[in-house]
Amino acid sequence: MGVAQIIATVLAGAITVVAVVLAVRAVMLMTAVIRQGKPDPARFSDKATRTRTMLVETLGHTRMLKWSAIGAAHWFVMVSFMILFLLVLEAYFEVVDPAGGLPLVGHWVVYGLVTELIGVLGLLGILYLVYRRQRDRRAAKSRFTGSTMWQGYFVEAIIVGVLICGFLIRGFKVANDTFEFPSWATPVSHGVGALLPAAANGPTWVALVKLFISMGWLITISLNVTMGVAWHRFLAFPNIFFKRAPEKPAGSGLGALRPMMSEGKPLDFEEADPEKDQFGVAQVEQFTWKGLLDFSTCTECGRCQSQCPAWNTAKPLSPKLLVLSLRDHAYAKAPYLLGGGGKDLTGEEKATEAQLAHLDVLALAEGNRPLIGTEEEQGVIDPDVLWSCTTCGACVEQCPVDIEHVDHIVDMRRYQVLIESSFPAEAGVMLRNLENKGNPWGAPQNTREDWTKGLDFEIKRVGEDDFEYLFWVGCAGAFEDRAKKTTRAVATLLHEAGVDFAILGEGETCSGDPARRIGNEFVFQMLAQQNVETLTEANVKKIVATCPHCFNTLGNEYEQLGLKVEVVHHTQLLQHLVQTGKLTPVQPIDGDVTYHDPCYLGRHNRVFEAPREVLGASANVIEMPRNSERSFCCGAGGARMWMEEKIGKRINVERTEEALATGAKTIAVGCPFCYTMIGDGVTGKGEQDNVEVIDVASVLLRSIKGDKTPA
Ligand code: SF4
Ligand code: SF4
Repeated sequence: MGVAQIIATVLAGAITVVAVVLAVRAVMLMTAVIRQGKPDPARFSDKATRTRTMLVETLGHTRMLKWSAIGAAHWFVMVSFMILFLLVLEAYFEVVDPAGGLPLVGHWVVYGLVTELIGVLGLLGILYLVYRRQRDRRAAKSRFTGSTMWQGYFVEAIIVGVLICGFLIRGFKVANDTFEFPSWATPVSHGVGALLPAAANGPTWVALVKLFISMGWLITISLNVTMGVAWHRFLAFPNIFFKRAPEKPAGSGLGALRPMMSEGKPLDFEEADPEKDQFGVAQVEQFTWKGLLDFSTCTECGRCQSQCPAWNTAKPLSPKLLVLSLRDHAYAKAPYLLGGGGKDLTGEEKATEAQLAHLDVLALAEGNRPLIGTEEEQGVIDPDVLWSCTTCGACVEQCPVDIEHVDHIVDMRRYQVLIESSFPAEAGVMLRNLENKGNPWGAPQNTREDWTKGLDFEIKRVGEDDFEYLFWVGCAGAFEDRAKKTTRAVATLLHEAGVDFAILGEGETCSGDPARRIGNEFVFQMLAQQNVETLTEANVKKIVATCPHCFNTLGNEYEQLGLKVEVVHHTQLLQHLVQTGKLTPVQPIDGDVTYHDPCYLGRHNRVFEAPREVLGASANVIEMPRNSERSFCCGAGGARMWMEEKIGKRINVERTEEALATGAKTIAVGCPFCYTMIGDGVTGKGEQDNVEVIDVASVLLRSIKGDKTPA
């Protein structure tokens, strides 16, 4: 070993020791922070499915590839990052011996070929990502707004630096005639070698630079444990492995909301005690460990932000910024929590001031920040942020590392509603109506069947006779004028097709969706329990629902209360009836039709094709730019239907403008809330005489009736 190799080896060893010590310390700190979270034993179920899903989502890049060119570039960068480990390891051997390489595989031509290929594609990929970061950050409503840009560039520069060093090392080996791979397998290395002079110690010095770059990266990220753009390369794997529903394919939406948990178990309100049980989340450490892992994993890519209807209409909510605020707070509060600070469930401090005297002033201040509070109150999350969410699920759908924003938002809402009674005042009327009347409008229960008046056929009530389908009408379908038209159209179509169905009539109450989404789990459980008993008693096996919120709650959430029942949306049943010839559209609809995907039908439950196929049977369907899984919310979900929209542009107006811009004469909907929101949007734009908003069922009914008479 020459002098150059001795010096390089000492320097490489020194920086490696420093980097590894700091990295171990960082990993221990992150582990300690994540372990502050509450238990969540369900995350350890079905490890085989979890492993499969993790491998498919990471190696297959199933989420990222939805972003086409960026996804492909990111895939090559990810693979080249993995290969970088081998190349960095190889550098230690090259520091010691300029002609050396990795033992075992380092002399194998396949290794030379693969690393060459991945190196080139990774380099091109990273340059493309740098270009896109530059381009996209200038756009209005950029997904990068609020991201820590230097960290992204830093990580990208490191990868570029390591890859270039790799080619320079190989080039010097070519120039020194110590490179063993043929030019057909490593053409770039040979090309670089042709430009370099022979230098015996060249590979050693460049390998040392490569190690300094790599270890400099490790030191930097170890000193910045909240640098998600770097740490996600490691944390994405466990975060995806522990996702809530591993059996669902990537991007398959949320379906059921996570039940309210206390110490790892779903909370039953018949036994719950707020002094012993956790009601939602009031402190960052009351999220589960998976929540804290979610926050740590965020890459700050902003894909969630770019799709969020609240952010896109100038509300203060961005799912990315919400996650980043929670992450930064969790790590800043860590010294306080790890030093013995924190509150118990009754809000009492766990330690006295004297016991916390060893903490510095910043840690104490962070420990005392309210989780929800205004800027003046130094809250981590502003109430306007919390209440702006429509629970549309676009953020969860888009997140490449499977962060579960909606669960976290609803958990924070639960504490605000159940313990603090703090929520937008106007929603209080809805909650009182649910408790007292069993529907959000406060309509008398004995008017639930009024929509049946004037129909020229009889509708069976549960209990009168056997039936195949229970037609779940829903509160909107029973009480709201526009939605009643849909209810009547669906009943007429089912009757025409000879479907054997019955209704609960006055035996039906709200499914509980608005109560659950606003955070009132108590009212949700009360209503859901009542419905579960009614449905069990009636021996219901199949349900057809017109409201996607009911469809989602009955089909996905009542299982949490012990009821497993097959639920279809009316568009799915109508699709089947058209396909089997039981319903035959005859009259084509005048003008184009555009379809607005309801979030709880489309994104949350993946029903995209059925409504389009039903419409396509009698109309020319044209798409809005944001459709299917990237559809834009109407603004009514998450109980926002019952809250005033005081900040920014109205979400329904944004969506209506998009629909009107298609030039369609009909905007078809599949949800009573969307019906109201888009209908109001069209009226607000003064287009009600030119463009009609109507449910998919009503479009079909008109076509079958062969006239244009409204349903
Ligand atoms: S659920 Fe929808 S509204 Fe709520 S944060 Fe996510 S994207 Fe925004
Ligand atoms: S999409 Fe996921 S990783 Fe990207 S910024 Fe949003 S939360 Fe973070």
